[in-house]
Amino acid sequence: MRSTAFAILFLASYLHLSGREPASGLWGLFVAILLVYPHLQYWRACRSAKPIETEMRNLLIDSVLLGIFIAAVGFAQWIVFAAVLGSLSNNVANQGWRGAPNTLLALFGGALLWIAFAGFHYAPETEWHASLVCIFGLSAYLLGISHLSYTRNLQLRHTREQLKSREQDLLSANQSLLANLTEIAGLQDQLRDQANRDPLTGLYNRRYLDRILSQELSHCGYEGYSLALIMIDIDHFKQINDTYGHQAGDEMLVQLAAMLEGNARSSDVACRYGGEEFMLVMPDIDRELAMAHAEHLRRRFASHELYFDGYCLKTTLSIGVAIYQKDADSAGMINTRADQAMYQAKNAGRDRVGVTAAPAFVDA
Ligand code: GH3
Ligand code: MG
Ligand code: MG
Repeated sequence: MRSTAFAILFLASYLHLSGREPASGLWGLFVAILLVYPHLQYWRACRSAKPIETEMRNLLIDSVLLGIFIAAVGFAQWIVFAAVLGSLSNNVANQGWRGAPNTLLALFGGALLWIAFAGFHYAPETEWHASLVCIFGLSAYLLGISHLSYTRNLQLRHTREQLKSREQDLLSANQSLLANLTEIAGLQDQLRDQANRDPLTGLYNRRYLDRILSQELSHCGYEGYSLALIMIDIDHFKQINDTYGHQAGDEMLVQLAAMLEGNARSSDVACRYGGEEFMLVMPDIDRELAMAHAEHLRRRFASHELYFDGYCLKTTLSIGVAIYQKDADSAGMINTRADQAMYQAKNAGRDRVGVTAAPAFVDA
Protein backbone atom coordinates (compact mmCIF):
# COMPACT_ATOMS: atom_id res chain seq x y z
CA MET A 1 0.00 0.00 0.00
CA ARG A 2 2.81 2.35 0.87
CA SER A 3 4.60 1.72 -2.46
CA THR A 4 1.34 2.38 -4.37
CA ALA A 5 0.67 5.60 -2.42
CA PHE A 6 4.21 6.85 -3.10
CA ALA A 7 3.87 5.93 -6.79
CA ILE A 8 0.58 7.94 -6.98
CA LEU A 9 2.35 10.95 -5.45
CA PHE A 10 5.11 10.52 -8.03
CA LEU A 11 2.50 10.50 -10.80
CA ALA A 12 0.82 13.61 -9.37
CA SER A 13 4.13 15.44 -9.10
CA TYR A 14 5.00 14.37 -12.67
CA LEU A 15 1.69 15.71 -13.99
CA HIS A 16 2.09 18.88 -11.95
CA LEU A 17 5.65 19.65 -12.98
CA SER A 18 5.80 18.22 -16.51
CA GLY A 19 4.92 21.60 -18.16
CA ARG A 20 7.37 23.54 -15.96
CA GLU A 21 10.68 21.86 -16.86
CA PRO A 22 12.14 21.41 -13.33
CA ALA A 23 15.82 20.62 -12.76
CA SER A 24 16.71 16.98 -13.55
CA GLY A 25 18.17 16.65 -10.03
CA LEU A 26 14.65 17.11 -8.68
CA TRP A 27 13.37 14.14 -10.72
CA GLY A 28 16.27 12.08 -9.42
CA LEU A 29 15.23 13.02 -5.87
CA PHE A 30 11.56 12.15 -6.53
CA VAL A 31 12.48 8.80 -8.08
CA ALA A 32 14.67 8.03 -5.06
CA ILE A 33 12.09 9.18 -2.47
CA LEU A 34 8.90 7.96 -4.09
CA LEU A 35 9.83 4.93 -6.21
CA VAL A 36 13.01 3.38 -4.79
CA TYR A 37 12.90 4.21 -1.08
CA PRO A 38 9.55 2.47 -0.19
CA HIS A 39 10.82 -0.86 -1.59
CA LEU A 40 14.16 -0.55 0.18
CA GLN A 41 12.38 0.20 3.39
CA TYR A 42 10.05 -2.80 3.06
CA TRP A 43 13.00 -5.04 2.25
CA ARG A 44 14.80 -3.76 5.38
CA ALA A 45 11.75 -4.31 7.62
CA CYS A 46 11.31 -7.88 6.37
CA ARG A 47 14.91 -8.71 7.32
CA SER A 48 14.82 -6.95 10.67
CA ALA A 49 14.81 -8.95 13.93
CA LYS A 50 11.91 -6.75 15.09
CA PRO A 51 9.97 -5.99 11.88
CA ILE A 52 7.09 -4.18 13.59
CA GLU A 53 9.35 -1.75 15.47
CA THR A 54 11.34 -1.13 12.30
CA GLU A 55 8.11 -0.41 10.39
CA MET A 56 6.99 2.09 13.04
CA ARG A 57 10.31 3.93 12.67
CA ASN A 58 9.93 3.79 8.88
CA LEU A 59 6.58 5.60 9.15
CA LEU A 60 8.33 8.65 10.61
CA ILE A 61 11.08 8.51 7.97
CA ASP A 62 8.23 8.45 5.40
CA SER A 63 6.90 11.68 6.87
CA VAL A 64 10.32 13.40 6.82
CA LEU A 65 10.79 12.42 3.16
CA LEU A 66 7.25 13.54 2.29
CA GLY A 67 8.03 16.86 4.01
CA ILE A 68 11.05 17.23 1.69
CA PHE A 69 8.83 16.23 -1.25
CA ILE A 70 6.04 18.76 -0.60
CA ALA A 71 8.54 21.60 -0.13
CA ALA A 72 10.27 20.54 -3.37
CA VAL A 73 6.97 20.74 -5.33
CA GLY A 74 6.46 24.27 -3.96
CA PHE A 75 3.65 23.26 -1.59
CA ALA A 76 1.22 22.53 -4.47
CA GLN A 77 -1.98 22.44 -2.41
CA TRP A 78 -3.55 19.15 -3.59
CA ILE A 79 -0.23 17.35 -3.47
CA VAL A 80 0.35 18.71 0.06
CA PHE A 81 -3.18 17.69 1.06
CA ALA A 82 -2.74 14.14 -0.30
CA ALA A 83 0.75 13.66 1.17
CA VAL A 84 -0.08 15.11 4.60
CA LEU A 85 -3.44 13.32 4.99
CA GLY A 86 -2.04 10.02 3.66
CA SER A 87 0.92 10.20 6.02
CA LEU A 88 -1.25 11.24 8.99
CA SER A 89 -3.80 8.45 8.34
CA ASN A 90 -1.08 5.83 8.09
CA ASN A 91 0.59 6.91 11.32
CA VAL A 92 -2.67 7.24 13.29
CA ALA A 93 -3.86 3.82 11.99
CA ASN A 94 -0.64 2.25 13.28
CA GLN A 95 0.18 4.28 16.40
CA GLY A 96 -3.08 5.88 17.50
CA TRP A 97 -3.48 9.62 18.11
CA ARG A 98 0.08 9.99 19.36
CA GLY A 99 1.13 9.28 15.74
CA ALA A 100 -0.45 12.57 14.56
CA PRO A 101 1.87 15.14 16.27
CA ASN A 102 4.92 13.01 15.44
CA THR A 103 3.90 12.92 11.79
CA LEU A 104 3.30 16.68 11.62
CA LEU A 105 6.67 17.35 13.25
CA ALA A 106 8.43 14.97 10.86
CA LEU A 107 6.70 16.56 7.84
CA PHE A 108 7.61 20.02 9.07
CA GLY A 109 11.21 18.94 9.70
CA GLY A 110 11.46 17.46 6.20
CA ALA A 111 10.08 20.64 4.63
CA LEU A 112 12.53 22.79 6.65
CA LEU A 113 15.40 20.59 5.48
CA TRP A 114 14.44 21.22 1.87
CA ILE A 115 14.01 24.97 2.45
CA ALA A 116 17.43 25.11 4.12
CA PHE A 117 18.94 23.26 1.19
CA ALA A 118 17.10 24.79 -1.81
CA GLY A 119 15.32 27.88 -0.46
CA PHE A 120 11.63 28.58 0.04
CA HIS A 121 9.50 28.19 -3.07
CA TYR A 122 5.73 28.58 -2.72
CA ALA A 123 3.37 27.81 -5.66
CA PRO A 124 0.12 26.38 -4.22
CA GLU A 125 -1.79 26.18 -7.54
CA THR A 126 -1.98 22.52 -8.60
CA GLU A 127 -2.37 21.34 -12.22
CA TRP A 128 -5.92 20.01 -12.63
CA HIS A 129 -4.93 16.46 -13.72
CA ALA A 130 -2.47 16.31 -10.81
CA SER A 131 -5.31 17.41 -8.49
CA LEU A 132 -7.53 14.66 -9.85
CA VAL A 133 -4.80 12.05 -9.30
CA CYS A 134 -4.35 13.35 -5.75
CA ILE A 135 -8.10 13.30 -4.96
CA PHE A 136 -8.71 9.80 -6.38
CA GLY A 137 -5.37 8.47 -5.19
CA LEU A 138 -5.95 9.70 -1.64
CA SER A 139 -9.52 8.33 -1.64
CA ALA A 140 -8.29 4.95 -2.86
CA TYR A 141 -5.52 4.99 -0.25
CA LEU A 142 -7.95 5.77 2.61
CA LEU A 143 -10.35 3.08 1.38
CA GLY A 144 -7.40 0.69 1.29
CA ILE A 145 -6.53 1.50 4.90
CA SER A 146 -10.20 0.97 5.92
CA HIS A 147 -10.29 -2.38 4.17
CA LEU A 148 -7.05 -3.40 5.82
CA SER A 149 -8.43 -2.61 9.26
CA TYR A 150 -11.58 -4.57 8.35
CA THR A 151 -9.56 -7.68 7.40
CA ARG A 152 -7.45 -7.33 10.55
CA ASN A 153 -10.62 -7.10 12.62
CA LEU A 154 -11.92 -10.20 10.93
CA GLN A 155 -8.66 -12.05 11.63
CA LEU A 156 -8.78 -10.91 15.25
CA ARG A 157 -12.36 -12.13 15.67
CA HIS A 158 -11.45 -15.45 14.07
CA THR A 159 -8.40 -15.83 16.33
CA ARG A 160 -10.51 -14.95 19.38
CA GLU A 161 -13.09 -17.61 18.44
CA GLN A 162 -10.33 -20.16 17.91
CA LEU A 163 -8.86 -19.29 21.30
CA LYS A 164 -12.27 -19.63 22.93
CA SER A 165 -12.87 -23.07 21.41
CA ARG A 166 -9.34 -24.18 22.41
CA GLU A 167 -10.03 -22.94 25.91
CA GLN A 168 -13.21 -25.03 25.92
CA ASP A 169 -11.26 -28.07 24.68
CA LEU A 170 -8.69 -27.51 27.41
CA LEU A 171 -11.41 -27.16 30.04
CA SER A 172 -13.12 -30.38 29.03
CA ALA A 173 -9.74 -32.18 28.81
CA ASN A 174 -9.00 -30.89 32.28
CA GLN A 175 -12.35 -32.09 33.56
CA SER A 176 -11.91 -35.57 32.14
CA LEU A 177 -8.38 -35.63 33.57
CA LEU A 178 -9.80 -34.72 36.97
CA ALA A 179 -12.47 -37.41 36.63
CA ASN A 180 -9.78 -39.94 35.72
CA LEU A 181 -7.64 -38.88 38.65
CA THR A 182 -10.61 -39.21 41.01
CA GLU A 183 -11.34 -42.66 39.58
CA ILE A 184 -7.68 -43.65 39.97
CA ALA A 185 -7.69 -42.36 43.55
CA GLY A 186 -10.87 -44.37 44.22
CA LEU A 187 -9.34 -47.49 42.68
CA GLN A 188 -6.19 -46.98 44.73
CA ASP A 189 -8.30 -46.74 47.89
CA GLN A 190 -10.14 -49.88 46.85
CA LEU A 191 -6.87 -51.70 46.16
CA ARG A 192 -5.40 -50.54 49.46
CA ASP A 193 -8.51 -51.74 51.27
CA GLN A 194 -8.48 -55.04 49.39
CA ALA A 195 -4.83 -55.55 50.32
CA ASN A 196 -5.90 -55.25 53.97
CA ARG A 197 -8.95 -57.55 53.71
CA ASP A 198 -9.49 -61.28 53.82
CA PRO A 199 -11.35 -62.18 50.61
CA LEU A 200 -13.52 -64.94 52.18
CA THR A 201 -14.90 -63.17 55.25
CA GLY A 202 -14.30 -59.51 54.36
CA LEU A 203 -12.61 -58.96 57.74
CA TYR A 204 -9.22 -57.29 58.00
CA ASN A 205 -6.25 -59.61 57.46
CA ARG A 206 -3.14 -60.33 59.49
CA ARG A 207 -1.06 -57.69 57.66
CA TYR A 208 -3.54 -55.02 58.74
CA LEU A 209 -3.70 -56.38 62.28
CA ASP A 210 0.08 -56.15 62.67
CA ARG A 211 0.01 -52.51 61.62
CA ILE A 212 -3.03 -51.45 63.63
CA LEU A 213 -1.87 -53.27 66.77
CA SER A 214 1.44 -51.35 66.89
CA GLN A 215 -0.45 -48.08 66.37
CA GLU A 216 -3.01 -48.89 69.06
CA LEU A 217 -0.31 -49.93 71.52
CA SER A 218 1.55 -46.65 71.05
CA HIS A 219 -1.76 -44.80 71.65
CA CYS A 220 -2.21 -46.82 74.82
CA GLY A 221 1.31 -45.79 75.81
CA TYR A 222 0.75 -42.04 75.70
CA GLU A 223 -3.04 -41.87 76.26
CA GLY A 224 -2.76 -44.22 79.25
CA TYR A 225 -5.67 -46.53 78.45
CA SER A 226 -5.72 -50.33 78.44
CA LEU A 227 -6.26 -52.60 75.44
CA ALA A 228 -7.39 -56.19 75.02
CA LEU A 229 -6.21 -58.54 72.32
CA ILE A 230 -8.55 -61.51 71.93
CA MET A 231 -7.61 -64.59 69.92
CA ILE A 232 -10.47 -66.86 68.79
CA ASP A 233 -10.04 -70.36 67.37
CA ILE A 234 -12.83 -72.67 66.18
CA ASP A 235 -12.76 -76.00 67.95
CA HIS A 236 -12.52 -79.17 65.86
CA PHE A 237 -12.83 -77.20 62.68
CA LYS A 238 -10.98 -79.84 60.68
CA GLN A 239 -13.77 -82.26 61.53
CA ILE A 240 -16.35 -79.86 60.08
CA ASN A 241 -14.37 -79.75 56.85
CA ASP A 242 -13.83 -83.48 56.80
CA THR A 243 -17.44 -84.35 57.61
CA TYR A 244 -19.46 -81.73 55.73
CA GLY A 245 -16.99 -80.50 53.15
CA HIS A 246 -14.77 -77.49 52.73
CA GLN A 247 -17.70 -75.27 51.66
CA ALA A 248 -19.47 -75.92 54.94
CA GLY A 249 -16.24 -74.90 56.73
CA ASP A 250 -16.10 -71.73 54.64
CA GLU A 251 -19.68 -70.91 55.54
CA MET A 252 -18.87 -71.33 59.23
CA LEU A 253 -15.90 -68.95 58.90
CA VAL A 254 -18.14 -66.38 57.19
CA GLN A 255 -20.83 -66.65 59.90
CA LEU A 256 -18.32 -66.38 62.73
CA ALA A 257 -16.80 -63.30 61.04
CA ALA A 258 -20.27 -61.72 60.81
CA MET A 259 -20.86 -62.46 64.49
CA LEU A 260 -17.52 -60.87 65.50
CA GLU A 261 -18.26 -57.76 63.49
CA GLY A 262 -21.86 -57.60 64.65
CA ASN A 263 -20.78 -57.59 68.29
CA ALA A 264 -17.80 -55.25 67.93
CA ARG A 265 -17.79 -51.62 69.05
CA SER A 266 -16.89 -48.97 66.48
CA SER A 267 -13.36 -48.72 67.85
CA ASP A 268 -12.77 -52.50 67.79
CA VAL A 269 -10.96 -54.16 64.90
CA ALA A 270 -11.87 -57.73 63.91
CA CYS A 271 -9.35 -59.67 61.81
CA ARG A 272 -9.03 -63.10 60.32
CA TYR A 273 -5.60 -64.10 61.59
CA GLY A 274 -5.33 -67.18 59.40
CA GLY A 275 -7.22 -70.50 58.85
CA GLU A 276 -9.94 -70.72 61.51
CA GLU A 277 -8.23 -68.23 63.84
CA PHE A 278 -9.52 -64.71 64.42
CA MET A 279 -8.29 -61.72 66.43
CA LEU A 280 -10.13 -58.85 68.08
CA VAL A 281 -8.29 -55.65 68.98
CA MET A 282 -10.34 -53.84 71.64
CA PRO A 283 -8.86 -50.46 72.62
CA ASP A 284 -9.79 -48.64 75.83
CA ILE A 285 -11.30 -51.62 77.63
CA ASP A 286 -10.48 -53.14 81.01
CA ARG A 287 -9.87 -56.76 81.80
CA GLU A 288 -13.39 -57.51 83.18
CA LEU A 289 -15.18 -56.04 80.18
CA ALA A 290 -12.85 -57.82 77.75
CA MET A 291 -13.45 -61.13 79.53
CA ALA A 292 -17.19 -60.50 79.50
CA HIS A 293 -17.10 -59.76 75.79
CA ALA A 294 -15.11 -62.90 75.04
CA GLU A 295 -17.47 -64.95 77.17
CA HIS A 296 -20.47 -63.47 75.38
CA LEU A 297 -18.97 -64.44 72.01
CA ARG A 298 -18.20 -67.95 73.24
CA ARG A 299 -21.76 -68.49 74.46
CA ARG A 300 -23.36 -67.06 71.32
CA PHE A 301 -21.26 -69.24 69.02
CA ALA A 302 -21.83 -72.34 71.10
CA SER A 303 -25.58 -71.87 70.73
CA HIS A 304 -25.34 -70.91 67.06
CA GLU A 305 -26.72 -73.43 64.58
CA LEU A 306 -25.43 -73.42 61.04
CA TYR A 307 -27.65 -75.15 58.49
CA PHE A 308 -25.73 -76.45 55.53
CA ASP A 309 -26.84 -78.94 52.91
CA GLY A 310 -29.65 -80.18 55.19
CA TYR A 311 -27.32 -80.61 58.17
CA CYS A 312 -27.23 -78.62 61.36
CA LEU A 313 -23.60 -77.80 62.20
CA LYS A 314 -22.54 -76.78 65.68
CA THR A 315 -19.18 -76.32 67.32
CA THR A 316 -17.47 -74.14 69.93
CA LEU A 317 -14.73 -71.55 70.31
CA SER A 318 -11.55 -71.45 72.34
CA ILE A 319 -10.69 -67.88 73.20
CA GLY A 320 -7.55 -66.32 74.64
CA VAL A 321 -7.56 -62.83 76.18
CA ALA A 322 -4.42 -60.75 76.73
CA ILE A 323 -4.57 -57.36 78.43
CA TYR A 324 -2.02 -54.68 77.57
CA GLN A 325 0.48 -54.13 80.35
CA LYS A 326 1.70 -50.56 80.31
CA ASP A 327 5.41 -50.20 79.46
CA ALA A 328 5.88 -53.96 79.38
CA ASP A 329 4.19 -55.01 76.13
CA SER A 330 5.25 -54.83 72.53
CA ALA A 331 2.92 -55.95 69.72
CA GLY A 332 4.81 -59.24 69.50
CA MET A 333 4.59 -59.86 73.24
CA ILE A 334 0.86 -59.23 73.59
CA ASN A 335 0.28 -61.42 70.51
CA THR A 336 2.19 -64.27 72.11
CA ARG A 337 0.27 -63.86 75.34
CA ALA A 338 -3.10 -63.97 73.51
CA ASP A 339 -1.92 -67.11 71.69
CA GLN A 340 -0.80 -68.70 74.96
CA ALA A 341 -4.12 -67.83 76.60
CA MET A 342 -6.02 -69.42 73.70
CA TYR A 343 -3.89 -72.60 73.94
CA GLN A 344 -4.50 -72.73 77.67
CA ALA A 345 -8.23 -72.73 76.87
CA LYS A 346 -7.70 -75.48 74.30
CA ASN A 347 -5.64 -77.57 76.67
CA ALA A 348 -8.16 -77.09 79.43
CA GLY A 349 -10.81 -78.76 77.27
CA ARG A 350 -11.87 -76.15 74.64
CA ASP A 351 -15.11 -74.12 74.62
CA ARG A 352 -13.77 -71.64 77.12
CA VAL A 353 -12.01 -68.30 77.60
CA GLY A 354 -8.43 -68.14 78.84
CA VAL A 355 -6.35 -65.21 80.04
CA THR A 356 -2.62 -64.99 80.52
CA ALA A 357 -2.90 -63.62 84.04
CA ALA A 358 -5.05 -64.96 86.89
CA PRO A 359 -7.91 -65.79 86.86
CA ALA A 360 -6.72 -68.18 84.19
CA PHE A 361 -10.04 -69.53 83.01
CA VAL A 362 -13.72 -68.83 83.03
CA ASP A 363 -15.41 -72.18 83.03
CA ALA A 364 -18.03 -72.92 80.40
P1 GH3 B 1 -8.53 -77.48 67.31
O1 GH3 B 1 -9.82 -77.74 68.02
O2 GH3 B 1 -7.37 -78.00 68.04
O3 GH3 B 1 -8.38 -76.08 66.95
O4 GH3 B 1 -8.59 -78.31 65.98
P2 GH3 B 1 -8.92 -77.79 64.55
O5 GH3 B 1 -9.39 -78.92 63.75
O6 GH3 B 1 -9.83 -76.64 64.65
O7 GH3 B 1 -7.52 -77.25 64.08
P3 GH3 B 1 -6.56 -77.74 62.99
O8 GH3 B 1 -5.36 -76.80 63.03
O9 GH3 B 1 -6.25 -79.22 63.15
O10 GH3 B 1 -7.34 -77.57 61.66
C1 GH3 B 1 -7.61 -76.32 61.09
C2 GH3 B 1 -8.26 -76.60 59.78
O11 GH3 B 1 -8.75 -75.40 59.20
C3 GH3 B 1 -7.35 -77.21 58.78
C4 GH3 B 1 -7.59 -76.47 57.51
O12 GH3 B 1 -7.88 -77.32 56.42
C5 GH3 B 1 -8.79 -75.67 57.82
N1 GH3 B 1 -8.82 -74.44 57.11
C6 GH3 B 1 -7.87 -73.43 57.09
N2 GH3 B 1 -8.28 -72.44 56.31
C7 GH3 B 1 -9.51 -72.79 55.83
C8 GH3 B 1 -10.44 -72.13 54.94
O13 GH3 B 1 -10.23 -71.04 54.47
N3 GH3 B 1 -11.59 -72.76 54.67
C9 GH3 B 1 -11.88 -73.99 55.20
N4 GH3 B 1 -13.03 -74.56 54.90
N5 GH3 B 1 -11.02 -74.60 55.99
C10 GH3 B 1 -9.85 -74.03 56.31
MG1 MG C 1 -6.20 -73.24 64.80
MG1 MG D 1 -9.24 -74.89 65.65
